Amino acid sequence: MQAASRTVVALLLSTIMSVTDETLPQQPDVQEGIEYWNNQPANYDGVLGGFGTGSLPRVDALGSRRFLQYMMPELCTVPSAVRPLEPRAIDRRIRAVDVGAGVGRVTSDVLLHLVHDVVLVEPVESFIGEAFRRGSASASENPLPDGQPTRWKGIKEKTKSVTFIRGTLQTFDPSNPGKGTHIVGRVGYVSPEDDLDSKFDVIWCQWCLGHLNDQDLGAFFRRCRKALRDPENSIIMVKENLCTDMEDGGPKTIFDESDSSLTRSDMAWKKAFTDAGLELLDERLQRGFPEGLYDVKMYALR
Ligand code: SAH
Repeated sequence: MQAASRTVVALLLSTIMSVTDETLPQQPDVQEGIEYWNNQPANYDGVLGGFGTGSLPRVDALGSRRFLQYMMPELCTVPSAVRPLEPRAIDRRIRAVDVGAGVGRVTSDVLLHLVHDVVLVEPVESFIGEAFRRGSASASENPLPDGQPTRWKGIKEKTKSVTFIRGTLQTFDPSNPGKGTHIVGRVGYVSPEDDLDSKFDVIWCQWCLGHLNDQDLGAFFRRCRKALRDPENSIIMVKENLCTDMEDGGPKTIFDESDSSLTRSDMAWKKAFTDAGLELLDERLQRGFPEGLYDVKMYALR
């Protein structure tokens, strides 16, 4: 290319970029996000920004289990205030997917208590490696690795299963989990036939959707909706941090340089749900977290 036309191209580019800078917040970069998580320890403290050893994991898991049981009372295994007197009969295995799953915290502390089969999706090698190690250790007779508080429910008994998949949400399609991803392994219950692409009753997304820009988020939500097993009863759960809305009550999004992610306000989430054609069924603020953190909300959608 001629030097002069190269200058013209550079000028044009800088004009386009400055216009874009003014109109759009900086956008998440997939690789930079993964790079950030690559440098965090593969344990609860690592995935929870240093809050892994206090009360937060327990408070979080209990809040999640309560809201999921409230939305799907038929999943209650013991008598409780939300369990219907005549629960809807469950005549098949209940399936959930845990996306951006880190070391498998939500899988082990929330989902395995309530469902039969979980597909765990995570892009960072050390995290999914640790999740697989914890799941595999739960299946064996050997002592558990250091720091692992409990065995994962139903894995040793082979009544429940977890399938581990390495991949990003930008490419993951819950209707076809094996496509464009790497299946690391499976522990626990073995299905007589291949059950991987049989859709989901629960799709759980926690503290990872900020790594998707609005366009990728919309596309991901649409794929999730198509992958719901029962359009009348299955749900998508989103549990994420919230920044405050704009002063006029409008949606707001903040870019976080440290991990190349977006923090969305309540209205920004609701706009994303509407744009993707999702119905907001109910929402809950998570209570009981240490002061100084962002508000955290759970949204139930389909
Ligand atoms: N949901 C888990 C982990 C939260 S930490 C929990 O609540 O314990 C955020 C997670 O998002 C990390 O595991 C990180 O690796 C994952 N993540 C980052 N970028 C991602 C992407 N593009 N697709 C899917 N997951 C991503």
